[in-house]
This record gives sequence, structure tokens and C-alpha cells, in this order.
Amino acid sequence: MKHPDYAYEHLQRVGYDCHYDGIAQFVPVCPKCGRYVKADAKLTTDISGPVGTNATCSKCGRVTMPFEGYFDHADYGMAEP
Ligand SMILES: [Zn+2]
Repeated sequence: MKHPDYAYEHLQRVGYDCHYDGIAQFVPVCPKCGRYVKADAKLTTDISGPVGTNATCSKCGRVTMPFEGYFDHADYGMAEP
């Protein structure tokens, strides 16, 4: 897995509740130009994790945000599913 990019350490993350897998967490920036992107309301996943594009960049259009991994619900202050 790719290391977290610490340049974005203080940026608010985007999380999607994937039930028993935990919270799928992303850095809401464009992988091409580095702009802040508008994350989709829903995330598409398959057995291997997130798939396809999941955000819109004002410059690049549809892009895939950098995925940081799955986190526990507790880290988000949420009850376990
Ligand atoms: Zn972009």
C-alpha cells in the first residue's frame, strides 16, 4: 500500500461507511493537479476495495482520490456496525 502523503496531513478527510470493512478514508485532492476536489456522495467498492472514479476536479473532471485505507468506526466516533 502507498504511504500516506504527509503534505496533506492537516486536510479534512473524506470517509465512507463500508459497514464491516470499516470507514474507507480518502484525501479529497486531485491526483493529477493537487486541487481540492468534490467527493461523491457514495463510494463504489468491490471485494478488493474502492473502484473507479469517486470525485470531481474543477480542472480535470472525474478523478480518483488517493485512498488511505479502512479505519475503525471508533476512530470516527461511530458505533460498530
Ligand atoms: Zn485536477
